[in-house]
Amino acid sequence: MPNMQLEKTPVREQEPKVRAHNFDEVSACYTDSEALNEANRCLNCKNRPCVGGCPVGVRIPEFIEKIREGDIPAAYGIIKSTNGLPAVCGRVCPQESQCESKCVRGIKGEPVGIGRLERYCADYMADKASDAENPVKNGHKVAVIGSGPSGLSCASDLAKLGYSVTVFEAFHTAGGVLMYGIPEFRLPKATVQREIDGLRALGVDIQTDMVIGKILSVDELFEQGYEAVFIGTGAGLPNFMGIEGESLVGVYSANEYLTRTNLMKAYLDDYDTPINRSKAIAVVGGGNVAMDAARSALRLGAEKVYIVYRRSADEMPARREEVHHAGEEGIEFKYLCNPVEILGKDGKVCGIKCVRMELTEPDQSGRRGVRPIENSEFEIEVDAVIMAIGTSPNPLIRSTTPGLETNRRGCFVVDENMLTTREGVYAGGDAVTGAATVILAMGAGKRAAKAIDEYIRSK
Ligand code: FAD
Ligand code: SF4
Repeated sequence: MPNMQLEKTPVREQEPKVRAHNFDEVSACYTDSEALNEANRCLNCKNRPCVGGCPVGVRIPEFIEKIREGDIPAAYGIIKSTNGLPAVCGRVCPQESQCESKCVRGIKGEPVGIGRLERYCADYMADKASDAENPVKNGHKVAVIGSGPSGLSCASDLAKLGYSVTVFEAFHTAGGVLMYGIPEFRLPKATVQREIDGLRALGVDIQTDMVIGKILSVDELFEQGYEAVFIGTGAGLPNFMGIEGESLVGVYSANEYLTRTNLMKAYLDDYDTPINRSKAIAVVGGGNVAMDAARSALRLGAEKVYIVYRRSADEMPARREEVHHAGEEGIEFKYLCNPVEILGKDGKVCGIKCVRMELTEPDQSGRRGVRPIENSEFEIEVDAVIMAIGTSPNPLIRSTTPGLETNRRGCFVVDENMLTTREGVYAGGDAVTGAATVILAMGAGKRAAKAIDEYIRSK
């Protein structure tokens, strides 16, 4: 008889007042008994609706069944067979709009905590798992550009098929956004590093400080004997609003702010990475990036942090859990507000002028727009502003590789097999879709690996 408890088994979390001042992980992993209790809420539905909600088709009821049987290595094996980064996805996937949104337990009560159970299996296996399969080499070389989730999953699948894979990463550390964007308190870097070490154990060569398009071109990679190239360079180029005051001292892109904090460890006393220790900060945007920037600012010592978002709470694209955590930590949400100017004094930010917005009637697609309310401008006193209003792919590779087509947003054009407009060159992840999610980037990397294998074998 399944456990009919209506709510998810709660996880232990650091107190909001305490965690707002440290970078330690907010949520703890389930204990064995908590995981068992939550696994017992699963009804093992025959038609498996939750699996349909997972972009990589993790066999959810099967892995949960193994948790119930106490066989965690088998549960982990089931997850790993379709998802190469369970410790990451269990923590950061937007489960509420994916697997958990389809869970029948959500009809009356809360869905099964699928993400929490996935994380439990991954953390349980962290010091036990060994991915070192040592596959037999097939004599073919493939280059992967970028070491974010798309590049890592493409490299991993190709290595398992016997390819000699080299990953070229521009930064000094591999991992993409998982390392430089998503903060430590949500995704510990040791967890990401473990996944990267697993890839190295598979024989993948990861070369850091290698900016492709500057140090080597895509064509030079082919000249060096790589038979195919996968581009997983993400969308790291920040967008700005184009309003007055954006060049004042104290205006950051979220990417720069988070990179300084996460990758360059500005929050640790023994690192000398400079970062503005501001008193009051406005973060513009409503996605995960805005939440991460705001919560990092708080942890770096800001006394007041505002999220300025031009739509209402219902339209916020950030994961619900992150919005909830941000609110608990004391971040103030200014909904239906749009910045019109960043105010400065002596070249430095001293405030932000916003206009109030109102929602319009839904259009034919059912989507509501927003419009400014006349004469509703107001000012907020801040000494820093972080722009988190989206990013675009970096133009470096497209501008140095003849024959690679991109769309008007600068994203690579690919077919259903992730093949670009150049033979042997594949692309996936945010570089193709624009800023999206970890799991979609991983799915794209996997699809490309399959297509690259077919392409090389057909030659
Ligand atoms: P990336 O992760 O961006 O990796 C691309 C890599 O390519 C980088 O390491 C970059 O340095 C490297 N590179 C770029 N150009 C070159 C070059 N010319 N030569 C060599 N290397 C190059 N998604 C979720 O699912 N859940 C979340 O909670 C979530 N939170 C997020 C929070 C933040 C702050 C950000 C920025 C994103 C978040 N996302 C989240 C989105 C998610 O992280 C991305 O969709 C995902 O990382 C995209 O993966 P990718 O492999 O396409 O690119
Ligand atoms: Fe279990 Fe929910 Fe999936 Fe049914 S839909 S199998 S209850 S996780």
